Amino acid sequence: MAYEFERGRDGRSTDLPSGGGVPAWLAANLNFCSRCGSPLRFGSVPGEERQRLACAACGHIAYVNPRLVATTLPITGAGEIILIRRGIEPGRGGWAQPGGFLEVDETVNQAAIRETWEETGLLVEPGEIVGLYTRLEAMVVTIVFEARIVGGTAAPTLEATEIVAFAPESIPWPQIAFNTTIWALRDWIELRRPDLRPGDGDWG
Ligand SMILES: [Zn+2]
Repeated sequence: MAYEFERGRDGRSTDLPSGGGVPAWLAANLNFCSRCGSPLRFGSVPGEERQRLACAACGHIAYVNPRLVATTLPITGAGEIILIRRGIEPGRGGWAQPGGFLEVDETVNQAAIRETWEETGLLVEPGEIVGLYTRLEAMVVTIVFEARIVGGTAAPTLEATEIVAFAPESIPWPQIAFNTTIWALRDWIELRRPDLRPGDGDWG
């Protein structure tokens, strides 16, 4: 089904069309009502604009909404970008910015600081939002903050087997793990290093 509204810049990072409903990999795990344990059924529900997973026994609706991934691009004093080599799936072996899922009891800013700290050992102060990136395939929206490094010492972890400061001219584009990371790096370069003209030459 076609989706009528403009996708916007955050849609650059997804290859799936809008309006496709719950991704199959997730729907496969949503079988029973979390309230009463009866089977969930997909279909029309009174008062809902779209078809939903709902419980015929108790009426509970199992809403499915994307999760937020809070990430940072830590920038060194020399204007280099800190990237991590991912030690775990998804994207194992590729380069990405530090970050992870927002927890239910913290702000987005706190999540960005915490995830960066946990993965790299660097303490950062998030600043300007570089961008928001939708990834329908993974049911996530990634927010990317530019961040100043204010403390800590970079130390590899299970999640980040290498932590490297890349000059903007030396970003390992073919080895970037995620579409969202490619777009965030391009947007940051457009913002801070327009002299490098992303979009030309070997920019991912
Ligand atoms: Zn139920």
